[in-house]
Amino acid sequence: MAKMIVGGELVEAENHEVMEVRNPATGELVDTAPRGTVGDVRRAVEAAEEGFRIWSQIPLARRGEILYEGASQILARETELARTLTLEQGKPLRESVLEIRRFVHTLEHYAGLAKNFRGGYVPQLDKNRYGMILKLPLGICGAIAPWNFPVSLMGNKIAPALLAGNSVIVKPASTTPLTSIRCVQIFNEAGLPPGTLNIVTGPGGVVGEEMLCNSKIRKISFTGETRTGKHVMEMAARDIKRVTLELGGSDPMIVCDDADLEAAVSAAAVGRFFNCGQACLAIKRLYLFDSIADGFIERLVNKARKLKVGNGIEDGTLIGPLHTAAQRQEIEEMIQDALGRGAQLLVGGRRPEGAAYDKGYFYLPTLLGNVDRNARIVREECFGPALPIFRVKDLEEAIAMANDSIYGLGSSVWTRNLDKAMKAAERLEAGYTWINSPQIIYDELPFGGVKQSGLGKEHGSEALDFYTETKSVVVTTG
Ligand code: NDP
Repeated sequence: MAKMIVGGELVEAENHEVMEVRNPATGELVDTAPRGTVGDVRRAVEAAEEGFRIWSQIPLARRGEILYEGASQILARETELARTLTLEQGKPLRESVLEIRRFVHTLEHYAGLAKNFRGGYVPQLDKNRYGMILKLPLGICGAIAPWNFPVSLMGNKIAPALLAGNSVIVKPASTTPLTSIRCVQIFNEAGLPPGTLNIVTGPGGVVGEEMLCNSKIRKISFTGETRTGKHVMEMAARDIKRVTLELGGSDPMIVCDDADLEAAVSAAAVGRFFNCGQACLAIKRLYLFDSIADGFIERLVNKARKLKVGNGIEDGTLIGPLHTAAQRQEIEEMIQDALGRGAQLLVGGRRPEGAAYDKGYFYLPTLLGNVDRNARIVREECFGPALPIFRVKDLEEAIAMANDSIYGLGSSVWTRNLDKAMKAAERLEAGYTWINSPQIIYDELPFGGVKQSGLGKEHGSEALDFYTETKSVVVTTG
């Protein structure tokens, strides 16, 4: 039985209740984790107050060293962690390894900023008067993470929060608590003072809700659905808690007639089907210039057919199962809705057959043509391996259709024409635009959505602004 970590100790829930964690590929029990309570969150808040008192006084360079140490301890256990991640989440083992490394890179990135984290100074505000701009930690930060990339998304929150001198309480998704618990444990052993980094597992409606309500928690950094994010923001308004919201997306990809089609086909396949399509940044709408559409679709269909669907723990699997039965049902309903409105099924559109698939939530990579613009798969976030494809006459039309969404997370455009590329980069309503590039996230670049995809930034030195309070000081001498 896995345990939570509060004040540096492994603990059960106060009422000793547990939640089952099941493998999405087989339905088998992987382990259990504590079903935390309101009391458990309050216990973690007390521990985090003590942790903050000590951690915020530790010199920045030392904080950076501890982050480095944590990163290297995580890397040393990469194989064990990746295996647990695949068992609880379902993704192929090789994607789990990539996720653990992404987590390590983020930790190292912020560790590296330790000696370059500073405020400001204004000379001679007035005669004998000087100004200073301090960057102070906020106190206790709550980090609420989803199940699709449980470890790397936790890293996006804890790394800048810790470097800035805050203490943190993590709440992982109820279906993926195990790898996160282990990472927090390893980190605690790497030299964090007790209470600096805590993890409380349990239902969002109980543990998460108490984190939103508890006035001693000064900031909530949340990644999850837009609907939950709206609730987080409403609750945070009660005591003007700081929030960073990383929410849903429906990323458009535009392929112009002068693009490198081979590279674009490959980016579309990886961008849509990575993690079985369960990525906020997945390509969820594809816009093809008319003149290249037929050839592009043919190549993409061939690629989709060859992707091996199976248990993520087995060699050669490229697409694991969907994470839950509910998740698969939602995708099936969206595809039925599109087909009911006249969409053409190009490939997939069903569960794979055979005994190996009976107990898991598998679904074949699916491509749809002729899709009604008002179909659910276009208007809502499609969190699974299905892609609607549209034909457009030019870039104007493509950008207008791409921007016709409540979301604005990522976007990509493929063209060899610099004018078109710059126009798209400026006009696509999104927090990120990739030009002739697959959707790779860099720690150096700020990441975060516009419109209903979120608020605030993660990554980059910009993320540190969201874990600090800026304070002005006026000093008079003489
Ligand atoms: P949810 O919003 O359902 O859950 C996210 C987290 O919030 C979970 O830990 C959940 O706990 C918790 N939670 C649920 N209800 C509450 C509540 N009332 N108060 C506080 N916390 C609560 O999202 P999913 O887990 O389904 O994640 C998928 C979503 O995340 C997609 O929309 C995806 O696009 C988005 N996402 C956004 C990213 C971005 O960077 N913009 C990156 C990755 C994903 P529990 O599990 O116990 O319900």
